[in-house]
Amino acid sequence: MSLPTHHPGDALLMDYASGSLGEGPALVVASHAALCPGCRCAVAEMEAVGGALLESIEPDPLSPGCLDRLLARLDEDGPEPPPPVRRPPAPQRRAAADGPLLPEPLRSYIGGCPDALRWRPMLPGIRVAEIPLTVGSARLIRIAGGTGVPQHSHDGVELAMVLQGGFSDAFGHYLRGDVAVGDDTIDHRPLADPEGCLCLSVTMGTLRLTGPVGRFLNPFLRL
Ligand SMILES: [Zn+2]
Repeated sequence: MSLPTHHPGDALLMDYASGSLGEGPALVVASHAALCPGCRCAVAEMEAVGGALLESIEPDPLSPGCLDRLLARLDEDGPEPPPPVRRPPAPQRRAAADGPLLPEPLRSYIGGCPDALRWRPMLPGIRVAEIPLTVGSARLIRIAGGTGVPQHSHDGVELAMVLQGGFSDAFGHYLRGDVAVGDDTIDHRPLADPEGCLCLSVTMGTLRLTGPVGRFLNPFLRL
């Protein structure tokens, strides 16, 4: 099986390598990197450069009284700290494009089999299963062969990674491991390959359907 040809891009890889990417998009990037030697290598290099930069930074000396002020603030009753965000584990080093259906970072969230998730119908030929995260959620989306997702754009950024099968839109053909990055400048209508498509999807924002049917369905969708 061939290697992915659509990648998350340097900006997302850099955010992932620095640990600043949210849990959902980090799960997509880690799952892609498990199947993509090029991005895995790029992340490793970015992490090495980031570590070297941190080591080269001289720490600033603390101002007088700084420690006392910090301890006093810790004694005050403040709001509950947010729960720690779970960071997806590093991609499996030897994962291959023809390996298990779910690459390891994703498998640790779901277990081995996507069929065990609670699937709900969203539109004819399209079913969705939520993957709970520490903050927010990701989704698996199953699209039956030949089914088109209504034309839509995104308020924010949508990352969709193909796990099985494939889909096409005006920007290309996406197969296992490929990542499609959509933002509010892109209006598209993905069409599943004849054998259907299983995707991991994270939307950082709200999805807006923009076609004539989609505008009607918008209030009913929480994709
Ligand atoms: Zn890649």
